[in-house]
Amino acid sequence: MTERHSRQSFLGADSERILRDAIVGIAGLGGGGSHIVQQLSHIGIGTLVPVDPDHVEDSNLNRLVGATDADVAAGTPKAVVAERVTKAINPKAQIIPVIGRWQEAHLELRRCTCVFGCVDSWTEREQLERFARRFLIPYIDIGMDVHAIEESEFSISGQIFLSMPGQPCLRCAGILTDDLLAEEAQRYGAAGGKPQVIWPNGLLASAAIGLFMQLVTPWHPHHRNFAYLEYDGDNQSLQQSPLTELIRRKPCEHFAADELGEPLFEDIAPAG
Ligand SMILES: [Zn+2]
Repeated sequence: MTERHSRQSFLGADSERILRDAIVGIAGLGGGGSHIVQQLSHIGIGTLVPVDPDHVEDSNLNRLVGATDADVAAGTPKAVVAERVTKAINPKAQIIPVIGRWQEAHLELRRCTCVFGCVDSWTEREQLERFARRFLIPYIDIGMDVHAIEESEFSISGQIFLSMPGQPCLRCAGILTDDLLAEEAQRYGAAGGKPQVIWPNGLLASAAIGLFMQLVTPWHPHHRNFAYLEYDGDNQSLQQSPLTELIRRKPCEHFAADELGEPLFEDIAPAG
């Protein structure tokens, strides 16, 4: 164990090597994803694949960790900001920044130990989970929302979901529904400029990192194969969803066991 990670040695004698060997994908580098990148860099992840097609804009600076005023003027890609943040913390880390949609990075992402989904749109999340299931990759989804209760009263909520192959999925939990997808499609697939603020982003990202650490290091004796945490931004509380036990008992019917691996392979494999 190096001096750098001596304060996290309780994670297990092998934890430093495990984290150095890990390849972690981050789809979406806004408020949530930028926190994830920062924490993964401190933790000592060996390879990061930060993916986002967008460039830094003025409206991002209320929450985008690592982005500066100069990035707004220069139009720096968010993936380049992520690369800079990681390199400044851990120059030994390998970074594969992708300035593009995550679908363009599918070859890099399918090598990942885990993929974090920090995207706004429901369609993207649906596709990301499907992709992760196909390649048997743990997928951790985070999302926050601001709801108007009355004209000048707003409520913040959010959730973190750990989706593992063979386990309950975003649809099982009711986080993703056909209604949400249809409603989004009517708005031409755009999630729009949803309200986003830094403190729920950071809280959700931190808890997502906690789930990841439980998954990959020997630290935690109870390896979770599924988690659904709900954030109540009015009471500042984060807790296991009351639906957890109910969902756990019901087998997922949304992903077929034979929908695995390279989809084109079936077309090129010899018949019989
Ligand atoms: Zn399901």
